[in-house]
Amino acid sequence: MSKRQAIKVFGLIGRNVDYSWSPLIHNTAFQALGLPSIYTIFNIAAPELVGNALTGARALGIAGFNVTIPYKKTVVPFLDELSPEAQAIGAVNTIVNDNGRLTGHNTDIAGFAAPLLPMAEQIHGKPVCIFGNGGAALAAVEAFRLHFHPSSVRLMVRNLEKAEAMLEGYAHRELVEPCLTAELDTPDGERLLGECCVIVNATPIGTAGRSDAIQSVVPARRKLLHEGQIVYDMVYNPLETPLLAEARAAGAETISGIEMLIGQAARSFSIWTGQEMPVDTVRKTVLDEIEISVNV
Ligand code: NAP
Repeated sequence: MSKRQAIKVFGLIGRNVDYSWSPLIHNTAFQALGLPSIYTIFNIAAPELVGNALTGARALGIAGFNVTIPYKKTVVPFLDELSPEAQAIGAVNTIVNDNGRLTGHNTDIAGFAAPLLPMAEQIHGKPVCIFGNGGAALAAVEAFRLHFHPSSVRLMVRNLEKAEAMLEGYAHRELVEPCLTAELDTPDGERLLGECCVIVNATPIGTAGRSDAIQSVVPARRKLLHEGQIVYDMVYNPLETPLLAEARAAGAETISGIEMLIGQAARSFSIWTGQEMPVDTVRKTVLDEIEISVNV
């Protein structure tokens, strides 16, 4: 009998996502464990094509997917089953193909929670704050609810109607208190952020290469951050965003988005392969890549 094994194919479904580091992360892990698998990118040009793509994936036996912007909700109606986490926020970032039966999971929730778990007691019963009203913000809301039991989640947004639209259908709406970011510029701004035990950036502000790369969601001139707070930026490139630099200078604890990036990937990897991702090897590879991209 031949020793050759068929190669399993995994991929990322998104639009214009050639920049993604998911292929680097998963291919590094497959190689480190000697698994005959590859991970590639599937850019889907329009939402109308997502259903056909998943029908094709069933026929071709593609083993699994990650799903990213803008299709985390689009894929849901085309799946056979959802995990409780994916069901809770109506968004999927991981799909498993089990002989044509597609199950959707959401590992952003556990991936977001992972680096905060050692601080769970500190967070319990206190308010926390999240900037943004996209899919990543809702994953963070659900992670706080499931793992940390804060007294409330203050959602800092530019537009209250968009925040309500995001929260529509969310079963734990009562936990979330939407506030306008403009309020940070009022005398109440200090209290709004100052009371929060954790402050999360779930917007792209501060990402390298963007026009707002040198900005922060927290207006620096107001000195709203302080010691004892945990400041968590979902942005992972650069490792130290303007928000994290300001938080560090104020004496707060900081968490880079790289931890969430690796945390969500590790959970997808174990759902697909039943094996633990070699996270130290993966982290080193990603950090080397970030250093190269910063120095180019
Ligand atoms: P999204 O659905 O596009 O949402 C982006 C959010 O950012 C929206 O609420 C948007 O507000 C807000 N925003 C954009 N520009 C803003 C500005 N100048 N001022 C204030 N708010 C602004 O994206 P997402 O999927 O939620 O992801 C958000 C960020 O998290 C992205 O940078 C993504 O790369 C990152 N992320 C990281 C990880 C990780 O593993 N580290 C995982 C998921 C996401 P409006 O609705 O008002 O435009």
